[in-house]
Amino acid sequence: MTNESWGQVCKDLQKSIGENNFVTWIKPLKFRELHNGVAHFHAPTSFVGDWVSRNFGDEILRHLTLNGANVDRLEFNVDRAAAKAAPIATATAPAAQGRMENDHLGAAVDARFTFNSFVVGKPNELAHAAARRVAEGGPVTFNPLFLYGGVGLGKTHLMHAIAWELRNRSPHLRVVYLSAEQFMYRFVQALRERDMMGFKELFRSVDVLMVDDVQFIAGKDSTQEEFFHTFNALVDQNKQIIISADRAPGEIKDLEDRIKSRLQCGLVVDLHPTDYELRLGILQQKVELYRGQYPGLVIADGVIEFLAHRITTNVRVLEGALTRLFAFASLVGKEITLDLAQDCLADILRASDRKVSVEDIQRRVGEHFNVRLSDMVGPKRTRTIARPRQIAMYLAKQLTSRSLPEIGRRFGGRDHTTVIHAVKRIEELRNLDSQIAEDIELLLRMFEG
Ligand code: ADP
Ligand code: MG
Repeated sequence: MTNESWGQVCKDLQKSIGENNFVTWIKPLKFRELHNGVAHFHAPTSFVGDWVSRNFGDEILRHLTLNGANVDRLEFNVDRAAAKAAPIATATAPAAQGRMENDHLGAAVDARFTFNSFVVGKPNELAHAAARRVAEGGPVTFNPLFLYGGVGLGKTHLMHAIAWELRNRSPHLRVVYLSAEQFMYRFVQALRERDMMGFKELFRSVDVLMVDDVQFIAGKDSTQEEFFHTFNALVDQNKQIIISADRAPGEIKDLEDRIKSRLQCGLVVDLHPTDYELRLGILQQKVELYRGQYPGLVIADGVIEFLAHRITTNVRVLEGALTRLFAFASLVGKEITLDLAQDCLADILRASDRKVSVEDIQRRVGEHFNVRLSDMVGPKRTRTIARPRQIAMYLAKQLTSRSLPEIGRRFGGRDHTTVIHAVKRIEELRNLDSQIAEDIELLLRMFEG
């Protein structure tokens, strides 16, 4: 059994299980070897491996045998090395198998990550605007552009979008995108091959340099040193640099101070955790994509809203949930209802269940408004205490699955009607009083982050 004959099996499978299933589940697999009757595959995630094994295992075995392979079992392993080496290729949404464009110096740029496919909302509008500005090219106004934010909030997406845009607008520019890890790898390789001159020349000859996840080089002294020199050389030549990290420059531990301050010289913008509207927008966009992919598949009212409410961790998880939901629904040929979503996504929903307790909320809200915990649950009714208490009740209703009587009990044994009143009142005030709206935004962000 060779890669070639696996290619033939793939063609057969494509016919027998259909194009959609093939693209979603079989294509991401990598055939490794056939050994003692066991066919070994790399799968991008254990979920894909499990799914394929359960749903297409027999079919794969059948076609392998038909093609003359002596096989009685399949085994799927997660391809960690490949996932690390090519982090961009891991997001294999079935809707768009993007074109990959490889630069001999940098990493592949994923064609799915464009400005067009980036949904803009309050949490990311500044980062988006800055990215757009840099992508327009022209004179360098801020250097570097430093994008930071939590996992899955769109940093890599924006960087790829900039790369695409620049390459389209100005094909003559050398635009290089790579992860900090790849930068280190190249650096170490140059050291090993005693070709530091080549390394330096290469990196100093680019027009735009993008380094993703720069926090990776923290604590790696000689890589940092080299990064610093590359950085300075490019800034001196007025070449645009774009950096991303999971936190602000000043907060990256074990990063040299001179690098920190250099990174802060340009424009530093953060991507905030998503809010409900942004999640909804992203989901709606993806659903449109999937409609083309799975014509005839119906998604019931309220499902998208449900997901946007419940999956607050990050966009990658949100996308993964939708991909799985559509794949599942199309396999079983059912409408996507709330029930089906809850069933199919039970693990994801459980994992992103907010683990905030009423006590956490009381404590945080108390800190925010300078109210003692004993007053939070105590009998005092002065405005400066009662209002924060109402806000805490409101947040408890929003963020926990406690019932109204349970919440009341935790606030010093108050009645559930008191909680209802508080929730109503704060809902009103959120629309009327911008200070309260802001306080609540801030608190929500704290709990969701
Ligand atoms: P990060 O690099 O910040 O960890 P990514 O850029 O890899 O996050 O984003 C994770 C996934 O979420 C990607 O598939 C990306 O396309 C998607 N995504 C994130 N933010 C948005 C957005 N605003 N609009 C559309 N897709 C988004
Ligand atoms: Mg990233």
